[in-house]
This record gives sequence, C-alpha cells and structure tokens, in this order.
Amino acid sequence: MVSRVIPVDAFDLVIFGGTGDLARRKILPGLYRRFWAGQMPDEARIIGAARTDQDVAAFRTMVAEAIAEFVSERKRDADCIKRFLDCIDYVTLDARGEAGWKELKSKCRANTVQAFYFSVGPGLFGDIAERLRSFKIARQDARIVVEKPFGRDLATAKELNRELSANFDESQIYRIDHYLGKETVQNLMAVRFGNVLFEPLWNAQYVDHVQITVAETVGVGGRGAYYDKSGAMRDMVQNHLMQLLCLTAMEPPAKFDPDAVRDEKLKVIRALDPVEADDIVRGQYREGAEPGYLQDVENPDSRTESFIALKCHISNWRWKGTPFYLRTGKRMAARMSEIVVHFKPTPHSIFGEEAGTKANVLSIRLQPDEGIDLSVTIKEPGPGGMRLMDVPLDMSFAEALGEEAADMPDAYERLIMDVMRGNQTLFMRGDEVEAAWAWTDPLIEAWTRRGSKPCSYAQGSTGPEEAMMLMHKDRRRWRELEQ
Ligand code: NAP
Repeated sequence: MVSRVIPVDAFDLVIFGGTGDLARRKILPGLYRRFWAGQMPDEARIIGAARTDQDVAAFRTMVAEAIAEFVSERKRDADCIKRFLDCIDYVTLDARGEAGWKELKSKCRANTVQAFYFSVGPGLFGDIAERLRSFKIARQDARIVVEKPFGRDLATAKELNRELSANFDESQIYRIDHYLGKETVQNLMAVRFGNVLFEPLWNAQYVDHVQITVAETVGVGGRGAYYDKSGAMRDMVQNHLMQLLCLTAMEPPAKFDPDAVRDEKLKVIRALDPVEADDIVRGQYREGAEPGYLQDVENPDSRTESFIALKCHISNWRWKGTPFYLRTGKRMAARMSEIVVHFKPTPHSIFGEEAGTKANVLSIRLQPDEGIDLSVTIKEPGPGGMRLMDVPLDMSFAEALGEEAADMPDAYERLIMDVMRGNQTLFMRGDEVEAAWAWTDPLIEAWTRRGSKPCSYAQGSTGPEEAMMLMHKDRRRWRELEQ
C-alpha cells in the first residue's frame, strides 16, 4: 500500500518561541520530516522569533541540532537537511516590545500562505496578536496557531478568546490539541462513519460503557511549579480526554467539514451532566523509586491531583444510561492512551451458562502502537464442546502498513500541514473550549471548596484503590494497562 503525500503550497511560518522546548522537540523536527517526505516545498520559509539575540546562522545551528536529536537517522539526509536549513530564518524580537517587528514584516512575503505559531506562554498571546495587526504584518487570510493551555478556567479562556478575536477572525484561529492529530483519532471517525457495522450499535442500547485512558509513566518532572497550579483535570481532562470523548460520542456530522464536526462535538460537551462528587477520584503518586508528587512540586501541602478518574453521563437520546469513564495520571504502570467501547453481551446465550458469556470490545489505541482492535466471540477450537472465547481482530497500523507506518506523520506534523491547507476540522473552536471549561470549572470549585485531599497511589500502579472501586461499585473493571 502506498500512501500519497500531497505537497502543500509555499508558506511563511513564523514561530514565536522558536528557541523554546516545543519548537525544538516537536515543531521544527516535525517540519523537517514533512520536508523530507516531500510535503513541504523548498519555497517555504520558517522564521523563528524570540528574544534571544542571535543571527540566522546561530538559529540554523540550533535547528540542525534539533534534527540530529529528534529525527530518526533514516531520515537525516545531508542534502535534505541543507535544503531545509536554507528555508530557515530568524528575527530577534520581544512580544511585549516594539523592536524587531518591522524586520519581521520585511521578511513576510505577499503571495504565500501565511501562518503564525504562538509557541509561547498564553500570557503573550494578546501582545503578539495585537502587534501582528498594528505592524500590519498579518494579512486578512493569515492563520494563527495557539498552544495549550488555553486558559485555566472559563474566565481566562474567555479573556484569551477575546484577545485573539479582537485581532483575528475565528476562521483564522487554530487551537492545537495534538491528540486530535493522531492517526487513530481520525481513524475513529473513519471506523464509525465509513462502515455500516458500527454506527447502528453505537448507542446506549448496545454499548455498556466506554473507557478513555491516558496513562503516563513520567512524573511532573521539571514542570512541577506549573503543574501544581494546574493538575490532571486542567492539564489533561479539560482538553485531551474531553476531545476524545466528543469524537467518540458525537452524532454523525452531515459532512466532514470543520464547523459540521465541531458543532457536533460542542453538542456533546453541552449534554454532559455535572459529575457527582462520589464519581470522581483524585490521586497523588507517593514516594517510591522516584520522588513523590509532593517532592516533585516542592510543596508539602499541595492538594493538586496527578491522577483523576471520573464517571460521566451524556444526557441525550443516544447515550442516556451509558457511562463514560475517564482516567489519566502520571507515574502509572504503563504509557498508554486508548478509547475502549465495551458492547453489551448478547441478550440471551443459546449455548448455556457453561459456554461463558462474552461481549465485544472495540479498542482504539492512540499510543504506544496506534491501532484498532475488535474482540469477537468464536468457538474455542477443539473437541471440548461449545465453549466461547474472545479473539482479537487486530487492525494495528504497524502490521497493515508495514514500513510505511514508520513514515506516518506524527500528530504535530499532521496538524501543521492542516494549518497550511487551511483545514480547521481537527482544531478546537473557541466555543468548544469555553464549553469544556464551563463543565470542568464547577467540579474543580466543588473539591476546592470541600478542601478534599487526593488519595495516595504507588508509582508504577494503576492509580489509587479508590479508582478501582469507582468501577467495582458498577460491577465493571478498568482495562489492564499494557505497555
Ligand atoms: P519554553 O521552552 O519556555 O519556550 C518559550 C519560548 O518563548 C522561548 O523560545 C522564548 O525565547 C520565547 N519567549 C518567552 N518570552 C518571550 C517574549 N517576551 N517575546 C518573545 N519570545 C519570548 O516553552 P515551551 O515548552 O516551548 O512551550 C511553549 C508553549 O507551548 C507554552 O504555552 C506551553 O505551555 C505550550 N506547550 C508546550 C509543550 C512542550 O512539550 N514543551 C507541550 C504542549 C504545550 P526567548 O527566551 O529567547 O525569548
């Protein structure tokens, strides 16, 4: 199978925060890989912008080092790297100052796609947006890309939306959630809406429950001070897990176009019930082989959660009565993200109790190895009578695509190319982000008001015991965390 790489038109991409961690680890290596794959043309320009006073040669050296560190050897071709570095430029500027902006304007061309990546803290979004307009740098058709966190509550998200929309139309704003750039997430839509098999069963009548897990093995590491003000609910649930929930639960849009898809996602968020206190478990990893959460954030009194599990309900015709269980945490047993749809067992077993009752399970793995797996029930082979067993119908991409799987763009690459194509489908709209905060804010306020302490959990575990109980009381269990 040969996948087609469709080149994008020439573009000018300005990366504010071009010297930062995200640019170095993800954006610049990702752009290089798209260049290597033939998707980014030689005529494209990438202009780094930051306060660090350096010339273009020094910035190119930084980019070359980032490629050496973060791009696999197979794709590091000397000629290709040289041609890519020829596309790189740099401007010294302060987002809050006046110097450097005219120089940036002089570097922007008139007839190319124009995009500005705000790879800086959200405190600078308004300053940059305002200067792009006042210095007449951004054209009417310019695109801006903004990173998470998009606010820390509804009020701050509204303020960010206000700052951006004062200078740009919503159709120009690309709010990144890199989970939406994963191949599997898009495949979830293909599986749901491209097959007759699943959609008729995709409702409360046939789906027992859905589990969405994003487990990490790392701790909060060097981000302790930032993370402690945020916690798992703000850092992961409000954005990534809710986006996955929306794509799983949404109604079929009339067409695969940005507003049609985002309208349907928004309806899901608005149909979410408030979560009962008993249906939320918050946790903090304790000291083990590595320092505990409280040591990592250097705050012995912190009540911020590094783990959260919750049960939510969607009050609409399709999903009334089917719970969605979400969980995410740090320092867990495995690095694994997946959406698992547990179907109900058959209403009656014609084979009798001794055959065993099985139910179909569709799992959509986002990491480590992206793929979709459907468990189906068959007869256990052999002469032992009619006994049932589950077998997986594995639709893992690595197997289906062979070597090509290694060349699939990662989430950032795919999303940046979507920006260049002007496709907003996989980006969050302003009203979606606000609706997500409007749902999470009261939950956070409630546990803050109660002063509730997170439960402790062991490093390398599946989270606190209480999270197991959340499932057990409903006679269900979490899927195993597998590396
Ligand atoms: P970082 O390593 O601290 O980099 C920040 C960048 O902003 C640097 O290039 C810095 O360069 C520049 N900068 C800071 N103040 C500036 C100013 N006044 N004017 C112009 N440039 C300025 O941060 P990061 O990790 O790259 O993260 C950037 C954004 O992405 C943040 O909002 C973060 O939350 C988000 N994000 C990061 C990751 C990640 O994996 N790193 C993942 C998801 C989201 P100078 O010091 O040279 O000015």
